[in-house]
Amino acid sequence: LGGYVGFDQLQQQQNRKAMKRGFQFNLMVVGESGLGKSTLVNTLFRSKIARSTLAGAEDAKIPKTVEIHSVSHVIEEKNVRLRLTVSDTPGFGDHINNDGSWQPILDHINKLNEKYFADESAVVRNIAPVDSRIHACIYFIAPTGHSLKPIDIEFMKKLDKSVNIIPVIAKADTLTLEERAAFKERIVEDLDQHAINVYPNVNEDDDEEDKAINSKLSELLPFAVIGSDKEVIVNGQGVLGRKTKWGFIEVENKDHCEFSNLRDMLIRTHMQDLIDVTHFTHYEKFRAAKLRGGAP
Ligand code: GDP
Ligand code: MG
Repeated sequence: LGGYVGFDQLQQQQNRKAMKRGFQFNLMVVGESGLGKSTLVNTLFRSKIARSTLAGAEDAKIPKTVEIHSVSHVIEEKNVRLRLTVSDTPGFGDHINNDGSWQPILDHINKLNEKYFADESAVVRNIAPVDSRIHACIYFIAPTGHSLKPIDIEFMKKLDKSVNIIPVIAKADTLTLEERAAFKERIVEDLDQHAINVYPNVNEDDDEEDKAINSKLSELLPFAVIGSDKEVIVNGQGVLGRKTKWGFIEVENKDHCEFSNLRDMLIRTHMQDLIDVTHFTHYEKFRAAKLRGGAP
């Protein structure tokens, strides 16, 4: 055995502890009403998360201010427990005058940071406080085929230093493939021109491998997504999709849209990175400002 101490087991111990605690992932969806936010949330988890728990809220009159509804769901897969919270923001951009539509959303993000900060700085603290911070904000862009709207630019500019923003092209089935590609290009130009920082951000500390992965991902963004919570039978199998007069759109088929790219990024490949960037970049900024006594 020689000098074998056995700390290679640490990884396993850590895994076991992490499994027991479970993972917490908090998403937020933002965009004008009718762009398919609630539908996409349902699609994402192939369950009726938003609709069942938000029953009533959806049918209510359009709220006067942006009201944020958070719904939590525990998903289990092969002994891994994921507690997923999705915050829906009905009312965003629904007014005649949308100045400051972003403010209640930024306030909400700061409030959650504040809560984490208080938990973390308590004299008797929980070693692993529940992480209620928003790890990703999916921003829905209307499929106009033109360019970003002033409200899109304003929202992203105001929030890009506080949260990971993942813009998506909503209801992509309303665009032809050429329109989709051109729109995507235009959005990337607009983001660039306005110096908006969307996820994944360029990070000097990343190693070459991370940089390569992220730049490959960046080339595909923003994802053009289609949502549906209805199953239709295709070749004897139930698949999520939208039936139209001229055909059937399979939401999870990569030839039809990029919904599965978005899902894979959020759930399979980048969840830990989104959590890390939230903690080490966005929250760290908040914390430092807080300790300096300034308002974040
Ligand atoms: P929200 O207000 O952003 O939450 O939007 P909803 O999810 O309530 O969707 C508004 C309407 O758009 C509903 O009739 C949906 O069925 C429809 N819808 C949702 N996603 C899509 C999509 O990807 N494509 C199309 N064509 N319609 C969609
Ligand atoms: Mg909705």
